[in-house]
Amino acid sequence: MSIRRPQGTQDFLPRQTVYWQYMEKKIRDLCRVCGYEEIRTPVFEATELFQRGVGAATDIVNKEMFTFEDKGGRSLTLRPEGTASVARAYAENKLYGQTPPWKLYYLAPMFRHEKPQAGRFHQFHQFGAEALGTSDPLADAEIIWLAWTLGAKLGLKGLSLRLNSVGCPVCRPGHIAALSAFLRPLAGELCEDCRARLDKNPLRVLDCKKESCQKATANAPALPGSLCPDCREHFAAARSYLEAMDIPYQLDERLVRGLDYYCKTAFEILAPGLGAQNAVCGGGRYDGLVQEIGGPPSPGVGFALGLERLLGALAEQGAALPVSGPPCYVLATLGETARRRGAALAAELRAAGFTVLMDLQGRTLKSQLKLADRKQAAFTLILGEDELERGAALVRDMRTGEQREIPLAELARAMEDMT
Ligand code: ATP
Ligand code: MG
Repeated sequence: MSIRRPQGTQDFLPRQTVYWQYMEKKIRDLCRVCGYEEIRTPVFEATELFQRGVGAATDIVNKEMFTFEDKGGRSLTLRPEGTASVARAYAENKLYGQTPPWKLYYLAPMFRHEKPQAGRFHQFHQFGAEALGTSDPLADAEIIWLAWTLGAKLGLKGLSLRLNSVGCPVCRPGHIAALSAFLRPLAGELCEDCRARLDKNPLRVLDCKKESCQKATANAPALPGSLCPDCREHFAAARSYLEAMDIPYQLDERLVRGLDYYCKTAFEILAPGLGAQNAVCGGGRYDGLVQEIGGPPSPGVGFALGLERLLGALAEQGAALPVSGPPCYVLATLGETARRRGAALAAELRAAGFTVLMDLQGRTLKSQLKLADRKQAAFTLILGEDELERGAALVRDMRTGEQREIPLAELARAMEDMT
């Protein structure tokens, strides 16, 4: 076998997909109780959507996109994140024309061309939620509650929530000017990327993971000091809602989302035990985004949460998720006539909702019974020539070893009682 999966991708086998299904169900249930509805957008979009919707000065757009040309020479990109697509769908389908807000969520694969390592893949999966058409600070708090509560529902311990306000087009330019003035004399101490950011996007310098840059910017002017009254009021209200909901947060004046259309609330959720890849979730308010990609001015707030990292953090903590399904029955038959009758019986029982497995390799009765052990079947149904003649099946409780013959017509009823 010489064909292998592409670098930075994963196969999830059944022993892993049970955990994904468990997590996805928790996510869907949580979204339902908060009134978030699912949206599904294309896996690829016009490249321009991300250039404008994520920002040309970001690492994602500069270095991490899987971009290709279609046969007509149009530039397309595998989505590196979900918010730009949701904002596009919101504008394109004129959702803004209907009563706001729109509360949407997605569970979807994303693609980023970055160096594969633990917790960092070329194809990974995000759960994201967006509240569009509302500038109410309660929406910010609701979004944060949703991301925070998922961790708790899955039994994840030691999560921390970091919170900041990054201002708005009114107050941020003044802050950026002060930050630039502070950073310029330090240019020599910054990494190459950050020196480039000085011109394009000085706020992102605060986000650099390199120790030398963090040290150089330790005393940089903090955003909260330069917030305008509107931003200050919004932040205070969002915080008061979080406190009312008992969500513990830490203020982090260095936390940024470096684009013009991000504003006000910014937050991150970190999980212990994931090393450098410890951010499980990032989010915030983006009141300028829909307009940036060609829609009418519409406020919005949301987050994206990395599901591989969430599962990684759970595994790290040895959290045992309750993933066992309903009991399984193995239907073993002896002889071709019984096998045919068995096929019909399996179809009947499956239609009634029971999990019924039959041998598909022409195995002996003895090996069929071994299948029952391997599949950890709760019961085995045995259909031999004798049972068939009597119109019955032999039912063995695999836990106790007890056996009894049950007429086929009463089987479904009896199985209902047994489980
Ligand atoms: P990081 O700083 O770790 O690169 P990011 O700021 O690029 O994260 P976001 O764009 O905010 O991440 O995406 C939200 C979440 O998606 C992250 O917190 C993380 O859990 C997950 N994520 C991002 N990139 C990857 C990746 N390449 N592989 C796996 N998960 C990822
Ligand atoms: Mg990244």
